[in-house]
Amino acid sequence: MTDIEAKKQLICDIGKRVYAKDFAAANEGNISIRIDENRVLCTPTRHCKGFMTPEDICTVDMSGKQIDGKLKRTSEVLLHIEIYKHRSDINSIVHCHPPHATAFAVAHEPIPNCVLPEPDIFLGEIPISAYETPGSQNFADTILPFVDRTNIIVLANHGTVSYEADLETAYWLTEILDAYCRILMLAKQLGGIKYLPLQKGRELLAMRKDWGFSDPRSEAVDAEENIADFASFKSSWRQSEIVQTAFPSHPSATIPSETQATPDDTFQSSAQLSEQSIERIAQRTAEILRNQQNQ
Ligand SMILES: [Zn+2]
Repeated sequence: MTDIEAKKQLICDIGKRVYAKDFAAANEGNISIRIDENRVLCTPTRHCKGFMTPEDICTVDMSGKQIDGKLKRTSEVLLHIEIYKHRSDINSIVHCHPPHATAFAVAHEPIPNCVLPEPDIFLGEIPISAYETPGSQNFADTILPFVDRTNIIVLANHGTVSYEADLETAYWLTEILDAYCRILMLAKQLGGIKYLPLQKGRELLAMRKDWGFSDPRSEAVDAEENIADFASFKSSWRQSEIVQTAFPSHPSATIPSETQATPDDTFQSSAQLSEQSIERIAQRTAEILRNQQNQ
């Protein structure tokens, strides 16, 4: 078996795991491996990831144009290409719709840190990119604000994408994320989550650094800032309409006032949001009462 054949087989094997874990219903999801500087192996469109054979795998160039394979390549390969273009260290990508992580994507709920060791060590801070119609270049571009600073991104109202040097590890990131999101949802049913003390969070961050993963929050530790406040991806929340609703902030987080916010820091505090929500509810209640009186 040649190296390329082995990589095609690996894509099929990971496809089986993606499908078996319910991370991609029917023909959803796509997987790719970069084999050299101008060629990427990727999964075909409209084909179940659980039942692929090596002959089904397509080859595209770095513009997304198909150069080999009998089936049509996935339309979402542009997302993969954008990641490869920006990350020379990445050779493998898994994009799918794992239900628990995708629930966070649909709810626009940020995924908390400082709760469980594994996600903090292996995933770090997880951004949620803005929504765009799948398959387009605009969709591929939504990951650009984050692609350099993480190896996993939640795609708003869509799913997830994880990437690594090798495909097995890229897949692991998705599996860790979905397991974590499931635990968060179960814990909420039991009454909510308890955050780890900040010092324990810092220890996990130090382990993450030791294992060779970069994390924007390390800058906060180096600067002796509060890591509960520091979340470099928070500045994107307003644009992507991400609002912390289901889970509270870390108890050590201080709510930034408007005067503390830097010009590009558009983070909206939960206090400001709840004020707005209360106002909206009050307006709506007044409207309903008025309508009832007029009837
Ligand atoms: Zn998708």
